Amino acid sequence: MIIREPQIEGHSLILPKRHVEEIVELTPKEIKSLQNLAEMAVKLIDEKLSKATLIVMNSPRQRSQKHIHYQLLPLDRKYGIRDLIGKMYGVPLYTSKTEEELEKMTNCLK
Ligand SMILES: [Zn+2]
Repeated sequence: MIIREPQIEGHSLILPKRHVEEIVELTPKEIKSLQNLAEMAVKLIDEKLSKATLIVMNSPRQRSQKHIHYQLLPLDRKYGIRDLIGKMYGVPLYTSKTEEELEKMTNCLK
């Protein structure tokens, strides 16, 4: 699905037909279908726009649309997620964390 107000050329969405809000609600068949569509889109974006594709799924709280969807963002091949985060938060591409900080982050995700 092409977005009516794309932020960049080729900005598009992939979503299941059935209304689903949480990733854990997707059936294996839906996951496989979304995966196949994402692969096709990545290939098309590469061929038609000569861009790499960043695929993002926001958490339900961040979405303006509750219906689950992947955002496909064609980017110049030299950019990646670290570049986007760096621009958003004004942080360097790579930061070093101490073992203590890494352990604290890991414990937050358990
Ligand atoms: Zn829906």
